[in-house]
Amino acid sequence: AMAVQAPCIQLNDGNTIPIVALGTGRGTAKESDSIDEVRQAVYWAIEAGYRHIDTAAVYQDEEQVGQGIAEAIANGLVTREELFVTTKLWNDKHARDQVVPALQESLKKLGLDYIDLYLIHFPIATKPDDSPDNIDYLETWQGMQDARQLGLARSIGVSNFNATQITRLVSNSYIRPVINQIEVNPTNTQEPLVAHCQSLGIAVMAYSPFGFVVSRGQTGAPPPRSDDPTLTALANKYRKSVGQILLRYLIDRGLIPIPKSTNKQRIAQNIDLFDFQLTFEEVAAINQFNKNHRVIDISDWKDYPNYPN
Ligand code: NDP
Repeated sequence: AMAVQAPCIQLNDGNTIPIVALGTGRGTAKESDSIDEVRQAVYWAIEAGYRHIDTAAVYQDEEQVGQGIAEAIANGLVTREELFVTTKLWNDKHARDQVVPALQESLKKLGLDYIDLYLIHFPIATKPDDSPDNIDYLETWQGMQDARQLGLARSIGVSNFNATQITRLVSNSYIRPVINQIEVNPTNTQEPLVAHCQSLGIAVMAYSPFGFVVSRGQTGAPPPRSDDPTLTALANKYRKSVGQILLRYLIDRGLIPIPKSTNKQRIAQNIDLFDFQLTFEEVAAINQFNKNHRVIDISDWKDYPNYPN
């Protein structure tokens, strides 16, 4: 298979970002899956043309992500400058003076001297035991600005912020976030929040892009599944897989999908998205599945300060 590169778009700070990222979260991994598959997946992804990798401190795989990157650089597939690496600050490091040390710890595990994009993973602050803490994300953002000032993070942004939180952050900070990374898929289309972010020049990364089309051990989750007639008709029309249709749907909405795969064929498939596009009506048809139903259940935190309703 030929390597396929995703186009880049410009962020509101002038930096550019490739519009498809490999996801490395372990949410769909089986217990028997070795963590080493992350190193292999990152290498295969770079080989297939990915230039953007998404990880997080809480995934506990930054070391393996770093190994995959180091191997690809050592074998001459890419240079560090050609890659865009995203990682995230966990909820128990929200005090301003914890942010830079947390990023330095991530960089050490990744074997990198800067990160392209550093995100506040959630607006919620917790203690290390996951009990609620009372740190305002405006304080956390001061630490993110410190990280950028020091050159440790080239761009800074947020994840899982709702519209009210985005507005409050934009109105009360010197540097505007470049990204809000949120869940977007057919059962959780997030049209109002996406429009809000885009109107403020904040690009949206779409996590869990396959939604409930892939099995998550759920019972009674809303449709669609992979045999849904709307999706299979589009797959037949464009000679693509249902997975590729879902990723293209996100791209055609101006979003940056983060498909996770550790399978070599699917990794290649998930970036082979740039020889077709959906019509406005086809995007609208997929939006019709919306139930505002999240794949990633964060309701354990629903009574915590700053829960993103
Ligand atoms: P995804 O929607 O990416 O689904 C991953 C699942 O889909 C895996 O079981 C994978 O299996 C399967 N799959 C991959 N490609 C295809 C395909 N073409 N056709 C059919 N099935 C496919 O889920 P995630 O929840 O992992 O989200 C993606 C990424 O987003 C995460 O890895 C993480 O980086 C990020 N994320 C961020 C969050 C946040 O709070 N900011 C929260 C959740 C995720 P296989 O590996 O066998 O291919």
